[in-house]
Amino acid sequence: MRFTKLRLNGFKSFVDPTDLVIHDGLTGVVGPNGCGKSNLLEAMRWVMGENRPSAMRGGGMEDVIFNGAATRGARHFAEVALVMDNTDRLAPSGFNDADMIEITRRITRDAGSAYKLNTKDVRARDVQMLFADASTGSHSPALVRQGQISELINAKPKARRRILEEAAGISGLYARRHEAELKLSGAETNLLRVDDVLESMA
Ligand code: ATP
Repeated sequence: MRFTKLRLNGFKSFVDPTDLVIHDGLTGVVGPNGCGKSNLLEAMRWVMGENRPSAMRGGGMEDVIFNGAATRGARHFAEVALVMDNTDRLAPSGFNDADMIEITRRITRDAGSAYKLNTKDVRARDVQMLFADASTGSHSPALVRQGQISELINAKPKARRRILEEAAGISGLYARRHEAELKLSGAETNLLRVDDVLESMA
């Protein structure tokens, strides 16, 4: 699975539809301060399901929508699409029947985010799981933001372990375990309620 294209529309400083083709090998993005280099990395993290506005350098998630400039009005939505080549069929099972995978996330003011996988509507969780199982994603150490290297050097052992687990592709299993634990505790609560009902009927 290889990233081949990032498409932005109304995302932060990328007000007009912009396609960034990602070729084989190393890609460098150069430009003056403030031209939007970090916004590209944030767009990648965002389309992978990032939900923390702080990770987007914003106060709320709608801050990723182009908020206007001297000559342009603000937009009411932002959209990012990430296209991946899956001809090697390395995408996690469940997502593995297409040569090309396109994940799209769109946020509309006052209406929140919606995700699509190719043309199908999916949940944020599905997208997050796809990337977690593929050992990447919005929390992945493969995406290094400014200041993160010094954070890693100073990180506590537990935080470092999380990085290794992410690289090993098992962070998706932790998310599934957490969901299973929530379901289990829900079932236990229901059983207690059943006991109460049975007792009151006895
Ligand atoms: P540096 O080299 O200084 O790190 P950079 O090339 O990484 O800069 P970014 O930090 O990606 O630049 O982009 C910052 C620019 O994005 C700023 O000009 C800022 O005004 C603009 N920007 C951020 N959010 C929005 C938004 N919601 N609407 C419009 N522009 C935005």
